[in-house]
Amino acid sequence: MTLLPVQADLCWFCRQSDPAWRYPLEPVQELVTSLDGTLTIAGPLGAPWWPACEFCRMLFDAKDYETLFTRALTAVLSAEPERDPDETGLQVAERFQTLGARYNGPAQRVPAAVDGLTRG
Ligand SMILES: [Zn+2]
Repeated sequence: MTLLPVQADLCWFCRQSDPAWRYPLEPVQELVTSLDGTLTIAGPLGAPWWPACEFCRMLFDAKDYETLFTRALTAVLSAEPERDPDETGLQVAERFQTLGARYNGPAQRVPAAVDGLTRG
């Protein structure tokens, strides 16, 4: 099974680069003990933010989860056409549940890049 990739500089719904918004997330509860005894956060979804592009934020805030889900699934499948659509649909749904479970307030604008650096 190929896991969904998670990159901080992409919208986690539709993979658009340079997302303008981010949703604050509750801290992750699940901790994993690795072989050497150190505790690590379970997976990349342990991030404190959920990045979202303008359009996905609009859909999410309008609670249009069906359109958002279709948009997210289409984005994954068109980027990786070798994926199994059913399995990928489950993974996208699971990811949405992660956001639902850890949602911690409305979206905030991602701070602009500093020192005149261009992004992307
Ligand atoms: Zn998006």
